[in-house]
Amino acid sequence: MMRNQKPGETYPSLTPFYVVDHPEGTVLIDTGTSYEMLQNPEEYGPYGAGYISEFAADEIEMNEDQKAANQVTDLGYDPDEIEYVVMTHLHLDHAGDIREFPDSEFIVQQDELEYAWWPADPIQQNLYVEGDFGVFHSSEYSVTAISGNYDVFGDGTIECIPTPGHSPGHQAVRVELEDAGTVILGADLAFTQEAYETELQPAFAWDTEAAIRSNRKIRNLERTEDAAVYLAHDRDHFEELPEPPESLV
Ligand SMILES: [Zn+2]
Repeated sequence: MMRNQKPGETYPSLTPFYVVDHPEGTVLIDTGTSYEMLQNPEEYGPYGAGYISEFAADEIEMNEDQKAANQVTDLGYDPDEIEYVVMTHLHLDHAGDIREFPDSEFIVQQDELEYAWWPADPIQQNLYVEGDFGVFHSSEYSVTAISGNYDVFGDGTIECIPTPGHSPGHQAVRVELEDAGTVILGADLAFTQEAYETELQPAFAWDTEAAIRSNRKIRNLERTEDAAVYLAHDRDHFEELPEPPESLV
């Protein structure tokens, strides 16, 4: 989880995704891990998921109810009603259920789309599973490739903020809520609060220097906007969020 820290120790974590209700449409942020991939990694997509099947498939606990599309349905939304799906990045623990949202518009950084198809770094190659995002090539899926900050509804309530480093087109998402105020979903900007505060990155960060710059950018925003930052894989951050169907408002 952090370079040269606690070798041999494991850190059980989660792969969350988020639903944001907006008067003009419902937004999903990330799509979790693919249940189908875990059932049959070798057959999943043109390049399969050999790495996962070899090293991690047995470590990942997931049942079918935990698929993003099923959880969205359980919350009372029809997956076809999700207006936008914002992808923080396309690693396999965030991009798993893309194919279940053919009626949504996907918002992804251009740099991430380009790199996902041809990751030069052999470690990163294992984290991009074409079975997840290969459907973006199909005309049935709508993808908006963005470069830089992007205001989803044009009203300042949901904004994509580029935070490259963990991956080339990684982005955080700033959400303005009426009572909770400014919330920043930091995704994999850092894996844990400790890593966020100490600027430690995992060994497989795409670009460590860029990751540290992105980390500082979000810490600065956190300070100036008095924001609450939630990292995807920090267990305590996950516990702090209300349990659905309860939510921050
Ligand atoms: Zn992740």
